[in-house]
Amino acid sequence: MRVKVTVLPGDGIGPEVTREAMRVFRTVAEMSGFEIQFQERPIGGAAVLEHGSPLPRITLDACLDSDAIFLGAVGGPQFDSLPKEQRPETGLLQLRQALGCYANLRPAIAYSAIADCSPLRPNVVKNADVLIIRELLGGLYFGEPRGMNGNSAFNTMTYSEPEVERIARVAFEQAAKRRQKVTSVDKANVLETSVLWRKTVSRVGRDYPKVELEHLYVDAFAMHLIANPTRFDVVVTENLFGDILSDEAAVITGSIGMLASASIGGSVDLYEPIHGSAPDIAGKGLANPIGAIASIALMLRHSFHLEQEASDIETSVRAVLESGYKTADLARGKNTAVSTSEMGALIEQKVADILHRRQAYHAV
Ligand code: NAD
Repeated sequence: MRVKVTVLPGDGIGPEVTREAMRVFRTVAEMSGFEIQFQERPIGGAAVLEHGSPLPRITLDACLDSDAIFLGAVGGPQFDSLPKEQRPETGLLQLRQALGCYANLRPAIAYSAIADCSPLRPNVVKNADVLIIRELLGGLYFGEPRGMNGNSAFNTMTYSEPEVERIARVAFEQAAKRRQKVTSVDKANVLETSVLWRKTVSRVGRDYPKVELEHLYVDAFAMHLIANPTRFDVVVTENLFGDILSDEAAVITGSIGMLASASIGGSVDLYEPIHGSAPDIAGKGLANPIGAIASIALMLRHSFHLEQEASDIETSVRAVLESGYKTADLARGKNTAVSTSEMGALIEQKVADILHRRQAYHAV
C-alpha cells in the first residue's frame, strides 16, 4: 500500500510535535510494509511570511491531492495584528471548509498512569474514555445573516435535517465499534434547532437498535462530563456546544497536549492535535507530542483502515506513560520531565518493539 500525506507543521510548537508524530509514523510504515509519500507545505503564520497568505494555493492544492492531511498548529502573537484574511486561524478555517469535513472526532482518554495529572480526583477520571463528535460546518459559526448593527450584533443558528442526520450517523457508527452508547447533547427545551436535532438523532438511532441513545441538555451534560466522565462513550453535539465541551473534556486527560482529533467526512480527512501553537513554550522542548502522535493513530484507523497499527501506537503511548515518563505539562514542575523529542523517541521505540515482537511471532 502507498499513501500520500500532506504535512502542515504550522507555527510555534506545531513543527516540534509534527516532527515526533512523523518519526512514529515513518517507523510504523517501514515495519508494517506500507509506503508513505510525504509532501510538506506551509500554513498559518509560516505561510503568511513565505507567501503572504495563511492558506496559499500550493498548500491547498497539495492537501486536495492527498489521501490524508496532518496539521501541527497555527497562530502566534506576532500575527495577531494582521487583518482577518491574513490571520493564521483564517487559513485553518478556510482549509476545513474547502475540504468539507463536517465531523470532528475528539477522543478524550484518561490514562490511569496519569490520572493524578487531572485537576479532577483520580477516582473520577480513571479509565474515562469519551469520544466527542462535534458538527463542524453548521450552526452559529456559519449561519447567515450575521453582522453588527450600530450597538447591536447578531448571529444565526441554523441546522437542516440532512446536516444533523449525517453527523448522527457518524456517531452511531462509531458507537457500534465501541461501547454501544450515544449521548446526544442539545438545548431542546429552548432552541428550535435543538428540537430538530433531537428528533433527527432519535430517528437515525432507530437504524442502530443495539446502540443505546440518551439525550441530555447541554448545561446538564457540562456538569455530568466532569462529575462522572466514565458514564459516557460517544457524545454527539452541534458546532458551538462541541467547541466548548471538547475543551472541557481535555480536563479529564490531564493536559491539552494529550488530545488528538480527526476532521472527517469531506474530500480529504484532516488530523491534528487539538492544542494551539503554545507560543509560551515554543522552541524549548517542553511540548507534549502525544496529541500529535495519537492523531497519527486516528489517521491510520479512519483514513487507511489500519486498525492494528493504530492500536499499536495507542498501546505504546499507554506503556510509555505507565513506565513513568512525563513531559513537563504532566510532570508539573518536577525536574524528571522528558523533552518533546525524548517522549517521541520513547513512543517510537515502544511501537517498534511491539511490531517487531508481532512479526517474530508470526514468523515462527
Ligand atoms: P494553546 O493550546 O496554544 O495553549 C494553551 C496552554 O496549553 C498554554 O499554556 C500552552 O503552553 C499549553 N499547551 C498547549 N499545547 C501543549 C502541548 N502540546 N504540550 C504542553 N503544553 C501545551 O492555546 P492558546 O494559548 O489559546 O493559543 C495560542 C495560539 O494558538 C493562538 O494564536 C491561537 O489562535 C492558536 N490556536 C491554534 C489552534 C490550531 O492550530 N488548531 C488551536 C487553538 C489555538
